Amino acid sequence: MTNDCLFCRIVAGEIPATVVHKTDETLAFRDIGPKAPSHVLVIPKAHHVDVASLAQADPALAGRLLAACAAVADAEGLREDGFRVIFNVGAFGGQEVFHVHAHVVGGRPLGPMVAA
Ligand code: AMP
Ligand code: ZN
Repeated sequence: MTNDCLFCRIVAGEIPATVVHKTDETLAFRDIGPKAPSHVLVIPKAHHVDVASLAQADPALAGRLLAACAAVADAEGLREDGFRVIFNVGAFGGQEVFHVHAHVVGGRPLGPMVAA
């Protein structure tokens, strides 16, 4: 738990979120500003700054985070038409919250992978 971390506070129940999936180690909740009909954030409950740090510190947990993303895609009905899993990292990646989170996004064609 990192006191000033928004997503740690969601894990602690101090800030409300619409939870769609959880395991002992992961939590998935709806993005507050959805960019598509389905937009869910999937996080480890443990605080890691970004996906690179997580993968190096605890690769098995990184794998279980991806498994949670797949479970969310199933629960959201995204598997047949497809979806996108996005990890933003750092300034050029556009990361705003420094607790690793996967964006699971779908429900419509998502267009080019990155803006030109
Ligand atoms: P990123 O730019 O990858 O760090 O994404 C951060 C995401 O967190 C954005 O898509 C925000 O809309 C989302 N977000 C910020 N605050 C909340 C919150 N309280 N509950 C759910 N999602 C949030
Ligand atoms: Zn955190």
